[in-house]
Amino acid sequence: MRLVTFQSNGQPRVGCVRGDQDNLEVIDLAARDPRLPGSVKQLLEQGAAALDAARRACESGPAIPYGEVTLLAPVLDPQKIICVGLNYADHAKETGAKAGDEPVIFCKFPTTLRGPEAPIELPPESNEVDYEAELVIVIGRRARRLPRQDAMNYIAGYACGHDVSARDWQKNKPGKQWLLGKSFDSFAPLGPWLATADEVPNPGNLAIAMRLNGQIMQQSNTNQLIFPIDYLVSYLSHVSTLLPGDLIYTGTPSGVGVARTPPVFLKPGDVTEVTIQGLGTLRNPVVAGVKPNA
Ligand code: ZN
Repeated sequence: MRLVTFQSNGQPRVGCVRGDQDNLEVIDLAARDPRLPGSVKQLLEQGAAALDAARRACESGPAIPYGEVTLLAPVLDPQKIICVGLNYADHAKETGAKAGDEPVIFCKFPTTLRGPEAPIELPPESNEVDYEAELVIVIGRRARRLPRQDAMNYIAGYACGHDVSARDWQKNKPGKQWLLGKSFDSFAPLGPWLATADEVPNPGNLAIAMRLNGQIMQQSNTNQLIFPIDYLVSYLSHVSTLLPGDLIYTGTPSGVGVARTPPVFLKPGDVTEVTIQGLGTLRNPVVAGVKPNA
């Protein structure tokens, strides 16, 4: 099942996407079955029975043409957005960093989230905003101190994510401000949908690409992850209880703008597209952010 959050009369609604690429349509799940909750996070919290009911609701009934809905981030209100740095060997190498024995972990504030087609706003406080295509894990069940062999059972599904990064903040601010450099509003596009884990039989082998204005900038496969999906979920669950709807951005492959000669940074008018095999394309335009005192 492909779960979405979409806007209707100013309110978020939970939907599922039906059909194939040229003929997609969205079903309003709560309109089909009023017992279904009003957010994807709540749906995940309610567990397998609610997801089965959602699947049944998705099978038939009236639908809205995909092009007519405004999609929001499929999970609007995660408690945590956890990110993995330097998780592809080629990307670690291009940044001059050495991949360690354990992953580099940081966070983004949930106010960074945006849906497909929502603008990435370039903050006036940065001149070096960069792109990063990433596979995102969505947690499905409360998870604490999971052994690695159980970790996959706690994953709800996967989505395309974009870890937008202000490199000047990340590299030059005191103490290297990964958290702030990655947390300007609009710096975490997610979507277009959350593909449930049953639809993604091998998440550790998915082609992933970033296009900037149609040109391929990053191209790899999740089989290149240094710390794979089950390891990450287990590792993080030993520190912090993972909750339904929590997001894990799993890191980006080589080809980021800051490592290029000359460097490439995002500018107003750009369009970014993250495409992951089986997970669709997450497209976002880039705009100038609000100027100080404006
Ligand atoms: Zn990243």
